[in-house]
Amino acid sequence: MVKIFIDFDGTITRKDVGDELFEYFGGTACKSLVNDYYQGKISAVECFRLEANACGKINLREFDEFILKHEIDPSFKEFLEFCKTQEIECYIVSDGLDYYIAKILDRYGIAIPFFSNHLELIQSDEKEYVYMNLSFPHTDEECDRCACCKRNIMLERCSDEDLIVYIGEGYSDFCPVRYADIILAKEELQRYCQKEKIPHVGYNSFDDVLQYFKKMKKLQSSRKIFGLKKRRQAQLARRDLFIGG
Ligand SMILES: [Mg+2]
Repeated sequence: MVKIFIDFDGTITRKDVGDELFEYFGGTACKSLVNDYYQGKISAVECFRLEANACGKINLREFDEFILKHEIDPSFKEFLEFCKTQEIECYIVSDGLDYYIAKILDRYGIAIPFFSNHLELIQSDEKEYVYMNLSFPHTDEECDRCACCKRNIMLERCSDEDLIVYIGEGYSDFCPVRYADIILAKEELQRYCQKEKIPHVGYNSFDDVLQYFKKMKKLQSSRKIFGLKKRRQAQLARRDLFIGG
């Protein structure tokens, strides 16, 4: 079976909602925290916690309005409809926060399983103002580069018979693509794949992704699932992980 794992911020949405949100409510402090994170000075979880602290008390209405201003790729819904008719499973894997992911998907009437970090809003002593309380249900025991381990989520949901597709654009997609058979990459992720010589398909929008899958469907044969083939390096990476290498 073909299973597709899709990044949220910057891939489904036009902009990185998480980054924008922290910068808007937490100011320049959040920007320098993100730099510290990229330089490896702090872990992803530490970065999130410090960013939430920097945001302090937030006006709930302003927070929700800010989230709902964000738009998604106009072809994403059509792509999901196509996957449904082809019995392809789709999942969102995100190192962002469930609160805004759920709100944005809901606004567009999209129902798709997603995995991410968890945001709870705690009422403050002031009416209409809340605090951010973050928790991280999908951390990896050994790696703290991401708060939500996309690789683990992906591999837990796939068996040897499945063909894994990954669609993304940025830093939090660098790790999972190593384990995926087919990679659709744009922007930072595409540059990373080029540098690391990871075979991938470039795209700009979900319309390109849709056209790619329609084209591949025509190549369907007994040896290929949906015209797609497993990637040897990804199979080896998955096996190494399973063995504990
Ligand atoms: Mg992203």
